[in-house]
Amino acid sequence: KPDDDLILRVEDLAVHFPLGGGLFGRERRLLRAVDGVDLSLRRGECLGLVGESGSGKSTVALSILGLLKPTRGHIVVDGRQVATNSQSADRKALARTVQIVFQDPYASLNPRQTVRRTLEDPLRVHGVTAKSEIEDRVAAMLKHVGLRPEQADRYPHEFSGGQRQRIGIARALILNPKIVICDEPVSALDVSIRAQIINLLLELKDTLGLSYIMISHDLGVVEHMSDRVAVMYLGRIVENGDWREIFERPAHPYTQALIAAIP
Ligand code: ADP
Ligand code: MG
Repeated sequence: KPDDDLILRVEDLAVHFPLGGGLFGRERRLLRAVDGVDLSLRRGECLGLVGESGSGKSTVALSILGLLKPTRGHIVVDGRQVATNSQSADRKALARTVQIVFQDPYASLNPRQTVRRTLEDPLRVHGVTAKSEIEDRVAAMLKHVGLRPEQADRYPHEFSGGQRQRIGIARALILNPKIVICDEPVSALDVSIRAQIINLLLELKDTLGLSYIMISHDLGVVEHMSDRVAVMYLGRIVENGDWREIFERPAHPYTQALIAAIP
């Protein structure tokens, strides 16, 4: 099949939110957060997704994760249809294939759960019952992300920002997903530790054979990590291809402005 090396295909994705307002609610105004997005991701590829705040990047991510029901379009993850406007996604099945690393690990981690619980819970939910297997997988994952075994019994507030993001990455990887969407994974971190987390993500991509969508407004991060770049603007993809080529010949005014602003 020609699609065999594509692990993800997004076709004509639209997500519209009701805006509310209007006199007596008679006007049905819509915010077209995502409006006709096509994307593809090859196995082992890192696709950089760039775009200003509010351009729809996270909405695309949540749709791929099956957490948002699209207004229109098709999403195919590893050969399986995720959701359409008429059919909800099987979020549980999807969680074993595609996961997300959020921008702010402090906000996305449960403050009352130790690292161990954070990693064990998804395993149990997904049917891993053997105590020894759970222990082994948690231990292996801690090692993968550079945390020490004794740190497993600590709570999120006992860690630094960079270490917390390591926990967020471990949580995303514990079910052995194939695709990881990194949604601004270093934007909330100190500049001094950003490179560590980026290098960790790159290393894990190779060791675990992952495919990434790397969402970031930091062009340096995107250029460093991505094989290919897509630029979003007002809910649409306005540029898609090799970053060098986009950089040299930006087609869209937004990309032109973005590049002109690089110091
Ligand atoms: P980005 O991640 O590129 O910053 P988002 O995908 O978060 O952008 O948001 C795109 C647009 O959709 C924004 O205008 C945002 O306010 C709006 N939006 C996102 N989620 C919702 C929601 N659940 N309900 C209404 N509007 C939303
Ligand atoms: Mg976002």
